[in-house]
Amino acid sequence: METSSLIKVTKTENSKINQVDFDNLVFGKTFTDHMFICDYKDGSWQTPEILPYQPLTLDPSAKVFHYGQAVFEGMKAYKDEQGKAWLFRPEENFERINKSSKRLNIPEFIKEYFLEGLNELLKLDSAWIKSGQDAGNALYIRPFVIATQAGVMASPSTEYKFIIICSPVQAYYTKDVKVKIADYYSRAANGGFGAAKAAGNYAGQFYPTKLVQEEGYDQVIWTDDTNHEHLEEAGTMNIFFRINDTLVTCPISERILDGITRKSVITMAEKLGITVEVRKVTVTELIEAANNGSLKESFGSGTAAVISPIGTIAHKDNVWTLTKPEDCYSAAIKKAILDVQYNVAEDTFGWRY
Ligand code: PMP
Repeated sequence: METSSLIKVTKTENSKINQVDFDNLVFGKTFTDHMFICDYKDGSWQTPEILPYQPLTLDPSAKVFHYGQAVFEGMKAYKDEQGKAWLFRPEENFERINKSSKRLNIPEFIKEYFLEGLNELLKLDSAWIKSGQDAGNALYIRPFVIATQAGVMASPSTEYKFIIICSPVQAYYTKDVKVKIADYYSRAANGGFGAAKAAGNYAGQFYPTKLVQEEGYDQVIWTDDTNHEHLEEAGTMNIFFRINDTLVTCPISERILDGITRKSVITMAEKLGITVEVRKVTVTELIEAANNGSLKESFGSGTAAVISPIGTIAHKDNVWTLTKPEDCYSAAIKKAILDVQYNVAEDTFGWRY
């Protein structure tokens, strides 16, 4: 056993890395040799540990199983051609998981534990992060918190586990996505917890997403719950539209996840000289723009793919196909952000860590 200044570290004696085919990874299926884990009990976070990746033992009555008191994050580490590993804006993920925790009545985590935990974990599992920007090689990092107290009374847990697991990945969506605009189901409502990265938000999306997948679409474009007139998110991504030469995205609200990629896209687009408007976009406006040809591009933004261009948009019985213009904004912005992530371009905004 070794101890970093804050964390108790137990290394694995049997690395699984030689069993992994890094050229044929299925997203989120393979995990690295180690995990970070920190328990909350008696009113405080205990000494964090790094352990060999292993199953958890929980009481069947643990509150997470019954009341879904759970939040998570999604972030990535990238390796440059010199073999150095980089995180992208990790403090944003830390702040967001605590914001999510607060909404789910989970105690906030400690920043030093989070950053030092990531440092130690990535040092130990560094060989699992492969360089290769073109293949989209990266390490997907999944921090999460679950309510572990035993007992089925519907009340907040007094015990939690904060865990970080890591999964080597390659580029996510390779083809343009097909989306359908929601006209009945909602993912979030005012006063709800749509802005939290809470497990239940995703469970509630699976069924409506399955319905559109049965019609041949990949994702739902979520709209407001009141009259389904405002475009809000694309599946598990934030959404952008290029109308004529202006890039438009809706403002963050209590129904929308404050995406770190979204923020980065806005900043990077402006740096590239693109006009960005953060304002509400209605279904009516989008249909009009799609019909008169002023809708030139649309894309989702998120950690998994950075940018996923949307090739088909449907609303009720109408379907529009988008062909990428020569001066494609999504490709230019994606490349500029990836260049920062992989330490190819100068980090003007201080995003690399
Ligand atoms: N919206 C939802 C609902 C998401 O799950 C995600 C992925 N975390 C995003 C937007 C994009 O957020 P980010 O850019 O921080 O990955």
